[in-house]
Amino acid sequence: MKTISIFNQKGGVGKTTTVVNLATALSKLGKKILVIDFDPQANTTTGLGLDKSKVEKSIYKMFYEEDSFENYIVKTEDGAYLIPSENALSGLEVELVSLDERERLTMLSSIIKEIGDDFDLIIIDCPPSLGLLSLNALVASDSIIIPIQTEYYALEGVSELMNTYKSIKSSVKEDLEIEGVLLCMFDGRCKLSYEVVEEVKSYFKSKVFKTMIPRNIKLAEAPSYGKSVIVYDEKSKGARAYLNLASELIENIKKESKEKENFKKKT
Ligand code: ADP
Ligand code: MG
Repeated sequence: MKTISIFNQKGGVGKTTTVVNLATALSKLGKKILVIDFDPQANTTTGLGLDKSKVEKSIYKMFYEEDSFENYIVKTEDGAYLIPSENALSGLEVELVSLDERERLTMLSSIIKEIGDDFDLIIIDCPPSLGLLSLNALVASDSIIIPIQTEYYALEGVSELMNTYKSIKSSVKEDLEIEGVLLCMFDGRCKLSYEVVEEVKSYFKSKVFKTMIPRNIKLAEAPSYGKSVIVYDEKSKGARAYLNLASELIENIKKESKEKENFKKKT
């Protein structure tokens, strides 16, 4: 089992779209996926078909209640499992401040430890900030996927993001890795898009996923039906891109674990 955060402090870059559609695509490929919506805006929760105003057992409640974790997990119609969010989660950021430094950062990882090995993969949707919620998500993760919008200011904020990543790595989570950088909302008709792709590749090198997510209207429409694009329009470009991404990710994870095994054998 592996836990991956979809992380970028910028809003509107494609985090939630990636969580909803990558999780559904992976489920479609036979993997048992748990999504944790860790953004108080709860867009992943609604995107996967839940009415956020009716959510009772949210990730927020998990911090306070003594109920067993199974009671917070919902199976979505699109196939992935979900621990929903609610707007009240924003309060947690303030409440965490009163805890001691280590506990403040490890609340989410303690919850995830309880869940154990029930799933092939846990995917966390992060809020658009570098606050305590995001830090908790990073500490709870084995790796991060960084979605980047292929637009003019694509790399703006990336050095801040990388500083946060490095500081978590050097303080609490030594083995936190970058799973991949995902180019989102790519527009093939726009010359600038190609320039941005080159710029991102020269910064992140081989970390950039081969799969790019095109700008596709179906991806923007699907959430209003509470569906992933995989279910809303399986033949759309958006659906095919996220299915390709899911296959690429599975291959990468297989490769990584082989490499780790070989390394262990040698040492
Ligand atoms: P974030 O979670 O990073 O804030 P979202 O995934 O919510 O970003 O995306 C921001 C907006 O852009 C949403 O309205 C979403 O539907 C739309 N969007 C995201 N990816 C695409 C895409 N590839 N093509 C078209 N619209 C997209
Ligand atoms: Mg979002």
